[in-house]
Amino acid sequence: MNIAVIGLGNMGLPMAANLLRAGHSVAGYDLVAENRARHAANGGRVATSVADAVGDADVVLTMLPAGQHVEAVCMGQGGVFDAVKGRSPLLIDSSTIDVDTVRKLAAEARIAGLDLLDAPVSGGVGGATAGTLTFMVGGTAAGFARAEPVLKAMGKAIIHAGASGAGQAAKACNNMMLAINMIGVAEGFLLADRLGLDRQKLFDIASTATSQSWAMTSYCPAPGPVPAAPSNRDYAPGFATALMLKDLTLAQGAAASAGSPTPLGAHARRIYAAMAEQGEAGQDFSVVFRWLATKPRDEAV
Ligand code: NAD
Repeated sequence: MNIAVIGLGNMGLPMAANLLRAGHSVAGYDLVAENRARHAANGGRVATSVADAVGDADVVLTMLPAGQHVEAVCMGQGGVFDAVKGRSPLLIDSSTIDVDTVRKLAAEARIAGLDLLDAPVSGGVGGATAGTLTFMVGGTAAGFARAEPVLKAMGKAIIHAGASGAGQAAKACNNMMLAINMIGVAEGFLLADRLGLDRQKLFDIASTATSQSWAMTSYCPAPGPVPAAPSNRDYAPGFATALMLKDLTLAQGAAASAGSPTPLGAHARRIYAAMAEQGEAGQDFSVVFRWLATKPRDEAV
């Protein structure tokens, strides 16, 4: 297939590489020349503009920072909607963006006779490189059927979450639950330290008891019990605090627009915002353990 990839950053570049490896012809475009050169080095065609990239594409994949970038690339002058007039390639946006923007874009696409899916991912740069991402897809059943074989070249789990926006909704809910959970595990392990309880003993007990979680058993924020966790490499990411803050902000926006109470989600966002301001933006989000350890009890955010 002819596939256009717009956005060749940390995620888009290795995703494009996996599409090339699967035998697709991939035209890549990015504002940054260095990223375009990396795509060429991987064997991809470098496009000179968005319009050039999508000219003969069967599928257009966008992997951009935020909603305003996706909106500009799709609906701006010389953007995807303009450039594909008269044809109907499948549009897949894998960026993490807000539910309202993706629903608006999908509705505009429909008017233009196009099918646009939201397909945000979980798995980070490691998953993008290994081709083991999880895709959470929102959109029509027909669009999903067209997308699945393409997404399989980049991911191990491809899940149709529901109608347009459902993929972004799943991502926002998942990451909000994860952030709340991670702070809880960090508080528990810090309290254990302060009570003189051995960390490994708490891990042995809690990981087989009712507080067991992925945040504890795969990403334990306290150094020691889980050797492969970021806490044992000075919190090198992994999944950076800045990205978790972005996702918590999107979740709060979604909760406000749906009128849904999220007291802990709101509190988790405040904590991650404070961490990012205080120099932890680039560290793995499990650094909340080390950050909390520096705070006096009465200075909780
Ligand atoms: P990134 O900033 O590394 O890449 C985005 C790329 O888009 C950049 O190279 C930028 O130059 C390019 N770009 C911006 N505007 C453009 C335009 N108008 N035309 C062409 N290119 C343009 O970001 P990333 O880490 O690759 O993340 C991409 C998306 O995936 C984000 O929405 C992010 O939240 C999400 N995500 C990232 C991770 C992760 O671990 N990095 C994990 C899951 C989801």
